[in-house]
Amino acid sequence: MPDDCLFCRIVAGEIPAEVVRRSDGLLAFRDISPKAPVHVLVIPERHVQSLAGVTGLTQAERSDMLAFIAEVATQEGLDESGYRVTTNHGPDGQQSVFHLHWHVLGGTQLSDSM
Ligand code: AMP
Repeated sequence: MPDDCLFCRIVAGEIPAEVVRRSDGLLAFRDISPKAPVHVLVIPERHVQSLAGVTGLTQAERSDMLAFIAEVATQEGLDESGYRVTTNHGPDGQQSVFHLHWHVLGGTQLSDSM
């Protein structure tokens, strides 16, 4: 775990976060600066920098992560209304925290421009 990784520090409990779900090496917590009424971040607890480093996770971790994202959306009541899942990689993607995370956004009709 890199000492300077914000999300690793959230995993370790060193920085507070509003956790909404946790299981088997996966964590979901509310974004500190929400871009929609529901804005949850899903991360693997094990550090990989971004989706580009996803081969650093096991096959089980990768598939569990996908199911976990859907479970979080269901838990947040977004199944019927719908939701968006995104991840940013690198400068053009405007990634700002370098620990793989999925934005789960919903609770309103989202912009069609992204
Ligand atoms: P990205 O720009 O895709 O790297 O997204 C990073 C996200 O992390 C942004 O939406 C931030 O609002 C969010 N964020 C930054 N610091 C925290 C924190 N301490 N707790 C929860 N979310 C955070």
